[in-house]
Amino acid sequence: MGIQKLQAENSKKVVTVVPGDGIGPECVDAARRIIDAAGVKIEWEERQAGADVFRQGIASGVPADTIESIQKTRVLLKGPLETPVGYGEKSANVTLRKLFETYANIRPVQEFPGVETPYSGRGIDLVVVRENVEDLYAGIEHMQTPGVAQCLKLISRKGSEKIVRMAFEVARAEGRKSVHCATKSNIMKFTEGMLKRAFEDIAKEYPDLESSHIIIDNCAHQLVKKPEQFDVIVTTNMNGDIISDLASALIGGLGFAPSANIGSDVAIFEAVHGSAPKYAGKNVINPTAVILSAVLMLRHLGEFAAAAMIENAIMVTIEEGKAKTGDIVGYDRGTPTTVYTEMVIANLGRKPSEWHVRDHQAIKMPRVSTVPDFVKPESRRVVGVDIFVESSLNADGLGRGLEEIVTGLPFRLKMISNRGTKVYPYGGTSPDCVDHWRCRFILHDIKEELKEEQLLGLLTVISTKYHWMHVEKLLEINGEAGFTKAQGED
Ligand code: NAP
Repeated sequence: MGIQKLQAENSKKVVTVVPGDGIGPECVDAARRIIDAAGVKIEWEERQAGADVFRQGIASGVPADTIESIQKTRVLLKGPLETPVGYGEKSANVTLRKLFETYANIRPVQEFPGVETPYSGRGIDLVVVRENVEDLYAGIEHMQTPGVAQCLKLISRKGSEKIVRMAFEVARAEGRKSVHCATKSNIMKFTEGMLKRAFEDIAKEYPDLESSHIIIDNCAHQLVKKPEQFDVIVTTNMNGDIISDLASALIGGLGFAPSANIGSDVAIFEAVHGSAPKYAGKNVINPTAVILSAVLMLRHLGEFAAAAMIENAIMVTIEEGKAKTGDIVGYDRGTPTTVYTEMVIANLGRKPSEWHVRDHQAIKMPRVSTVPDFVKPESRRVVGVDIFVESSLNADGLGRGLEEIVTGLPFRLKMISNRGTKVYPYGGTSPDCVDHWRCRFILHDIKEELKEEQLLGLLTVISTKYHWMHVEKLLEINGEAGFTKAQGED
């Protein structure tokens, strides 16, 4: 389809654009210029987020008028945002993804004709569908003792169903054949296992697609060994972050890795890479990842022909070998970012000889109930409690002290673990203990349910002698334990 015909067909769309930090403005400028040249009518609402906003004292890194604009346009094209490291402010990227519940991070990884890698010719063409708002990246962290930190890994059935359905829908929309679910459910049976179970249940609704589970470490290994075996990989947030970066390295690096953050209401399009500050303003970086993120955005907006035209133009530009960016040939001799952009514009309307743009249809957005209590069990009861105690005693001293304290109460101390390994009663192991102990109490009468006042009584007694910092009720759901045993616990 020619540019003029596209121009005639398009109605104007409003998109929020955040140029971002470091190399962000150069990449976003390239994408905007190419979209304009392709004839897509977009009204850009330029807004700010990231480093400058943090410096103005806005702790989220995202000012109110940026949020308002996204609420209105529901589509954001953004450059990378710098994240303060270590202490203080949260990542503005994660804030945006979470504020707008963009629960699916879709990261296509495909071989580029003309970008030589050890994998060239193998036909890598896969998509990582990463859960984007839960898991350890919810960032719920606490110092539990001065020397022990905790990060909560929260995975919900609702979140798992949404991301799994999205993965199957992406596979269908792109005419793909298989979906792998990659988890660490062999170790984290409840959290990572939640995604695996949702996957196995929902796969039955997609009989046209092959489905299989793979342990995430083997997935990383297989991605390096035989990446062409993968089509769609759905995985939890942190796993997805790591394997999608790994996968992008197979096809030429972060300069070629786009992504879409999709939610039910809002979609955010950005490169996988960060702000690469050392290259900022030097006109040397590879803008392909942001341009391809904009291609994903055009498909989201229903501009399939323009998206294919731009993708083809990028492929022609790279395939012909006249433009090689600094990340491929060295920053001292690479094609300048602006020259590369001009070449892509000049190639609009052309098709590469050895490469074929995949046909895309609109993704059928998953429909999942929005009720908070998504899972309604037939039965549930609290059968005990884990009380986390800070103490400089050794395991034996703490254990005997706690046994003494609960004498006469309806509980018994079942065990104490230190960083997940049972250390009391003594089981012959000798872990290097820290001052953070999980003390597991269960009712003498195992058929009874633990009552709130019994728990509060236990905490009151313990706090007369020890310092507790955290409590977890031990839940039994539909007759099954909803808590794991410590290593070595019977
Ligand atoms: P980075 O900015 O992605 O850069 C790491 C390296 O990747 C660069 O030094 C460069 O490697 C290569 N690279 C990345 N983008 C490139 C491009 N377009 N063209 C050519 N080469 C490219 O990662 P970082 O240095 O770890 O992070 C810098 C800042 O970005 C941090 O503040 C981080 O928090 C933030 N960040 C933001 C996002 C986001 O906005 N979504 C994502 C990740 C990181 P060579 O020098 O080896 O060529």
